[in-house]
Amino acid sequence: MTTMSDKIDYENDWIIDSGCSNHMTGDKEKLQNMSEYKGSCVVVTTNNSKLPIAHVGNTVVSPQNNDTEMPLQNVYHVPGVKKNLLSVAQLTSAGHIVIFGPHDVKVYNNLEIKDEPLMKGQRLESIYVMSAEAAYVDKTRRNETADLWHMRLSHVSYSKLDVMMNNSMLKGLPKLEVRTNTICAGCQYGKAHQLLYEESNYRANEPLELIHSDVFGPVKQTSFGGMKYMVTFIDDFSKYVWIYFMKEKSETLSKFKEFKKVAEAEVGKKICWLRTDNGGEYTSDEFANFLQEYQVRRQFTCANTPQQNGIAERKNRHLTEICRSMLHARNVPGRFWAEAMTTAAYVINRLPQQRLHFLSPFGKLWKMKPTVSYFRVFGSVCYVFVPDHLRSKMDKKAVRSSSWWSSDKELLPDSDTLKRDLQSSQVQLKLDETEIVDDDDGEDGVTQNPWQTGVHQQPVEDGEPSAI
Ligand SMILES: [Zn+2]
Repeated sequence: MTTMSDKIDYENDWIIDSGCSNHMTGDKEKLQNMSEYKGSCVVVTTNNSKLPIAHVGNTVVSPQNNDTEMPLQNVYHVPGVKKNLLSVAQLTSAGHIVIFGPHDVKVYNNLEIKDEPLMKGQRLESIYVMSAEAAYVDKTRRNETADLWHMRLSHVSYSKLDVMMNNSMLKGLPKLEVRTNTICAGCQYGKAHQLLYEESNYRANEPLELIHSDVFGPVKQTSFGGMKYMVTFIDDFSKYVWIYFMKEKSETLSKFKEFKKVAEAEVGKKICWLRTDNGGEYTSDEFANFLQEYQVRRQFTCANTPQQNGIAERKNRHLTEICRSMLHARNVPGRFWAEAMTTAAYVINRLPQQRLHFLSPFGKLWKMKPTVSYFRVFGSVCYVFVPDHLRSKMDKKAVRSSSWWSSDKELLPDSDTLKRDLQSSQVQLKLDETEIVDDDDGEDGVTQNPWQTGVHQQPVEDGEPSAI
């Protein structure tokens, strides 16, 4: 067993220095294959004096406590330096990994660490810097204001935000000062039109007793996933909304079947009534037969008077406005409208509504206060860090992308499922909610708005060219 001296032997020991850019020694005898130094660098010491580099050579370090001999190349001979310095930057450049512990330091050739680091700095030339991390945290904290929550909660009105914060209506929503006279640019685009609807007085007494449904589309710009239509199903009792996307209007029945199966299984009740307009997608024999088979009775509203289908129409309008606000606020390309709609529906389901006596649809349906601490602004810039062994040398280390919820799984940037998926693929995500995506995807002439503003004042007729 070897014992370690607790005094530094400056003549023979090497000091591992994370701040120096090159291995160096004052002792010319330590170097082999030495040549004269021809470069222009000088060594600046801690008292700011400059020492010239005389030679460059190789050496071998033989640590006292193990048998490995470590060859070092490109070591500077600097006359006047009173110690031998091992540069961490030069070690890591040669492919080694250096770990500093409370009692020791270890250099590895190949090492895979499974644990998530508590902190992660970046190398800047020959030094390692943590300040970038700290600045990032600082920035997000500083911006965690009412404006940020206004955007996270799908552009909810500032007065409603104030009420929700003061009454702690959502888990994870901080109490902040809200200036209710704030103007948000995204909202100016999104909420250009406000129409009042007469609402039927009928109220369902239990979940799934009455479902309102309406088809939205065709949307001029096909979504990222190839969709042109959206169908919504709204539970009259809780106002909870389920949305599905379609390539063709004719998929409405199959989406209704899908919804019926999922909702009935989750809620544990059967759908009794379905209220729709009499658009062709709802009036086929096939649709009628299906409803009859499962004893779902139906109510039709009059054509061209969307007021009678008030709840479904209004929900679609609300979703459209929010979707438009979200796309515009962050300069997100219009082809992500379906992702924005999914996000809007997810958030709306969790916001308290006056007509539900300030319960949220989620709260009314599941009797639980929704948690919003994990909400992030739609369209935030998301950095994906790919570990070394998963990328080729030419790949960028961080890939920038925009974040959105997966339309079928409602994955959030820090949801447990996503975390697990990321861990298994060893990819990390970092979100910057303050950065706005610049339009660098080469889609010239495509606006953020997949539909023309104002078209939604009128119901879209069957067969009408896609004016949206
Ligand atoms: Zn807004």
